[in-house]
Amino acid sequence: MSQISSSSTNPSPSARKLCRCGGYIKTWTSWTYLNPGRRFEACEMSRRNRGNGHHWEWLDAPTCARGKEIIPGLLRRMRAMEEDLKLIEEQKKEVEDKLKIVEREKKELEYEVGELGKQKRQLEEKRTGQRLRENQIWGVSFLSLGLGFLVIMMMLCVLSNWLTFPGGNYEMLMIN
Ligand SMILES: [Zn+2]
Repeated sequence: MSQISSSSTNPSPSARKLCRCGGYIKTWTSWTYLNPGRRFEACEMSRRNRGNGHHWEWLDAPTCARGKEIIPGLLRRMRAMEEDLKLIEEQKKEVEDKLKIVEREKKELEYEVGELGKQKRQLEEKRTGQRLRENQIWGVSFLSLGLGFLVIMMMLCVLSNWLTFPGGNYEMLMIN
């Protein structure tokens, strides 16, 4: 079991003690099964190894028997919970990644829907224009047909008058 420890920095930089190597001496708390919760002072360069020339010193008396009995179990539970938490974080990240992909696909689909809507509008405009032109053509055709019919009828009237009373108008003019 490696030495698991947490540090607490000294109150002010001027009060900090220095090791022979020049590194700062900090206060740490051991979280090993043998010394759970026991504080020690060690050089920041070598807090895990004692007796290699760096400063290393226990601050607290050895953890009491009851503490040694209870704390390792608590530590095991805490580590198991941390593992669970890590797993949950990983699952959360996976879900977030999937959500990102779904979001991207949704955006792409929305863009495609927009493009299709644009094409639909253009087609509708084209169709409306065509219908308008067809209506105009029909209108002009009907108008010219009507006009042609009217001209033919007028010509027929004039012709029939002329055939029934040839020079009739002239005679009437003469009488007056
Ligand atoms: Zn040192």
